[in-house]
Amino acid sequence: MKIIVCIKQVPATQNVQIDPKTGSLMRWAATTKMNPFDLVALEAALQLKDKSSAEITVITMGPNAAKAVLTEALSMGADKGILISDKAFAGADVLATSHTLSYAIEALKIDYDLLLCGQQTTDGDTAQVGPSIAALLNIPHISYVRKLISNPNTFTVESIINDDRLIAEIKKPCLLTIDKDFAQARYPSYWKLIETINTPIQIITLADLKNPDTINHIGQAGSPTSVLKIYPPVHEVISKKLSGKSKDIVNELVDYLKDEHLIERNSHE
Ligand SMILES: Cc1cc2nc3c(=O)[nH]c(=O)nc-3n(C[C@H](O)[C@H](O)[C@H](O)COP(=O)(O)OP(=O)(O)OC[C@H]3O[C@@H](n4cnc5c(N)ncnc54)[C@H](O)[C@@H]3O)c2cc1C
Repeated sequence: MKIIVCIKQVPATQNVQIDPKTGSLMRWAATTKMNPFDLVALEAALQLKDKSSAEITVITMGPNAAKAVLTEALSMGADKGILISDKAFAGADVLATSHTLSYAIEALKIDYDLLLCGQQTTDGDTAQVGPSIAALLNIPHISYVRKLISNPNTFTVESIINDDRLIAEIKKPCLLTIDKDFAQARYPSYWKLIETINTPIQIITLADLKNPDTINHIGQAGSPTSVLKIYPPVHEVISKKLSGKSKDIVNELVDYLKDEHLIERNSHE
């Protein structure tokens, strides 16, 4: 079985700075790590590999520094790492990111059975890249997968969306986004890290993407989204002292919690 896992390098801190002119995250100024949700997607691939033979290719679109997350994935048990990197890919919004990743997947010419993505990222947070790649590659997809069994031509999956449980069979090849509660991701092995630290990472650039439409759909030119304003939410601490009789204090407190929608009003109120 051949599996491709999409992983993204994200800021490792909540305190990322925002460029006041462009409204973009100043990613270069932040320490980075593998998107935690992608660790779980990689774990799903590794569990399939534990059960039967599978070859796992991990891909990331990002700057040269994003090689670090590929090396980490290799030390966890992935077989091959591919960095999709070119100045032309910079400034991509969700649509351009999905186009670039799907063009790169086509260019790799891997006869994959399964494409895996994380549930979402911890920086962009849209959860749209996985389903968009599936649409662009014209393959079926299911999101928020919690259980996964491989059959000869299909996967049986269980997915939980809100409170509903979906059990479905999906044809190979397909794309699944893996729910954060699928499993606890394994730790990288120290010995595997030593073994893989110098494993070459293949780099895919614009020149490798063969699709004739590529240039209109990548980077800033292929990004219809423009950020009008981005700012950290202001956390206000409001304190109020209630005084009087206990009963009045309780009533005032309950009214306040209802007004703030922190507790429900009775329907007959
Ligand atoms: C106008 C604009 C400009 C932007 N410019 C930049 C920029 O210059 N540099 C930049 O880094 N970001 C930039 N961004 C943010 C970037 O578009 C998003 O981070 C990116 O599209 C992924 O979306 P997301 O983080 O919401 O991913 P989600 O949809 O939440 O991610 C779901 C899953 O998709 C996969 N995935 C997502 N991104 C990648 C990736 N890059 N490589 C491999 N797998 C991936 C992972 O499996 C992930 O778990 C920009 C956004 C906008 C709106």
